[in-house]
Amino acid sequence: MPATEKIGQDYLRGRHDAQKVARLLDYAISRSKEAEHREALMALKTELTANGDRDIALIYGSMEFYDREENDIKGGGGLGVLAGDTRRVCEDLGVRQVVLTPFYTSESHQELVGFWQHERNDTTDPNRLYTNLGQVAIDTTVDRGIGLDVYGRQLGSTTILTVTEPAFGELYPGSNSGDHRLYQEAALGFGGYKALKDQDITPAFTQLNEAPVVFLAIAQLDDLVSEGMPFEQALAQTRARTLFTNHTLVPAVEGEFGYAQFEHMIMPNIKNHEVQEWVRSMFDEHGRLKLSLLAAEASGVQSGVSKLHAKVAEYYDKDGNRVDFQAVTNGISNRWINPGILKLYRDRVIYDEFSVPAPGYQDAIAELDIETIRTLKQEGRTYMNEVLATRQDQYGEPIDIPEDAVLFNFKRRFANYKRPGLPFEDPERLAQLLVEGNAHFILTGKPHPNDDPMKGELHRVLTLIDSDPRLKERVHYVQDYDEQVGRALSIGADVAINLPVVGEEACGTSWMKDIANFEVLISTPDGGVADVEPIECLEVSGDETEMTYVRMKEAVEIVRSDDQLGNEVKRELAAYLETISGTRMMLDYLDLFAAQALARKR
Ligand SMILES: *Cc1c(COP(=O)(O)O)cnc(C)c1O
Repeated sequence: MPATEKIGQDYLRGRHDAQKVARLLDYAISRSKEAEHREALMALKTELTANGDRDIALIYGSMEFYDREENDIKGGGGLGVLAGDTRRVCEDLGVRQVVLTPFYTSESHQELVGFWQHERNDTTDPNRLYTNLGQVAIDTTVDRGIGLDVYGRQLGSTTILTVTEPAFGELYPGSNSGDHRLYQEAALGFGGYKALKDQDITPAFTQLNEAPVVFLAIAQLDDLVSEGMPFEQALAQTRARTLFTNHTLVPAVEGEFGYAQFEHMIMPNIKNHEVQEWVRSMFDEHGRLKLSLLAAEASGVQSGVSKLHAKVAEYYDKDGNRVDFQAVTNGISNRWINPGILKLYRDRVIYDEFSVPAPGYQDAIAELDIETIRTLKQEGRTYMNEVLATRQDQYGEPIDIPEDAVLFNFKRRFANYKRPGLPFEDPERLAQLLVEGNAHFILTGKPHPNDDPMKGELHRVLTLIDSDPRLKERVHYVQDYDEQVGRALSIGADVAINLPVVGEEACGTSWMKDIANFEVLISTPDGGVADVEPIECLEVSGDETEMTYVRMKEAVEIVRSDDQLGNEVKRELAAYLETISGTRMMLDYLDLFAAQALARKR
């Protein structure tokens, strides 16, 4: 008897969605020029649409899932936004996907006091939007049967299954290597797998969105062995159906766990001795283990999140062989695009019905006229100001950007490698540039709660702005950066600034939201921006501080000129729309699954 109830599923709709997926795969097959690729997609289609009675789904595990406005879950930054977007793309396409993610019982918000960041933790409640499905249990050596509440929400062809309990805590509780973090990871992996079984869902493939969800794959392996499958065969089957998506560059920054922590919190959840021994064999001679190693070993295919990232990410398996990451560049869902612009993409056949660039899209982009671009940006500015009227700047005041001002924006996590302080290195030059160009600058982004140096950097930048009346008038810091602010800025600002230290941004997706909404991009050649070589935007290279100011001045001229703005917007859009498309990302993932399906068929 399953411990949890079944979520109210509409099987008729399920069948309808199976037809939609078949149509998507037929479309992918029709686009492919390679016989083997087509054969692989056909094998995948057979697997995903096989049996009308079984609920066959793609499983997506993520410790972070960020879709606060509509789905009331807020977890982290880019990684969580990507998870939220992947689900939305699946729903749009009718792909049967089940997201497994924790529901954190507390949510962190930024509050500035004297330009210093403080965190306010609000409690959250899954009952606001989710249906309680009952409980599953996990074990530790001390506590047997820790009850976890399972909540569910059905959205078209997708399901969000989330596990929690009243003391589950917040995302990033203290250290990445701490006991509570490992407990959360065990809860999602072992508890989540049980919840999935209770729902009678058959995983077609499991995607591990970063290593900390690896226990989902371990639970599956253990389950296969419990069902009587020999260990080696169970391991091969788990690998053949597991994709590990990595978002970081080197294991150094990752959490690391000790043998004792595993004995206490992980082993009691594994039933079979062989599986336990296999997990134990992953520890190094100092009795330490990084979850990325376990994820690399439990998965048959691994992916990085941009071309550059897949090439440079440096991970090794147990035998010391370098992990060969496939490149699947992140994309964005349509939610980030001004609805007026999205409609234009459809009307002008720039995006096809699946939201993939249509044949001839580059010509269609070239034909866009500047009046349309300006009108849509103006509407975007109005919308942005409506949002910013409800938010607070560094002085606690609402923000309103004049209609005739050129607006720069820098919006992203306040992390050192993203260099939010770079445009402020020469405050005099920045002030002159803003005054002469009648420009404003919106800065937003939170330092990680544990990142004291960057909290200091934020304080330094805000103090510097406060000390110059010109900067004080024209530079606005929006408190408590979130998806609402991110979206509003992409839609309403003119120029986006993206300056990661080259080699340190895995992909980034903010810049995609910007280009999709007709902003001019200033960027270093890094992350997904470097998918196109040479990059097609206002590039910052060489003397990066100098170049940032040169590009900002140039951007003001571009935005002020109809000809130049039209050309620049169209150049960037034509170069990057393929990359930006969330459906393109999904088709790339389906290609990876298809290759596995073909291997099975042969
Ligand atoms: C888009 C978005 C991100 C991702 O931004 P990158 O730094 O470009 O990866 C993070 N947080 C929020 C709120 C976003 O909207």
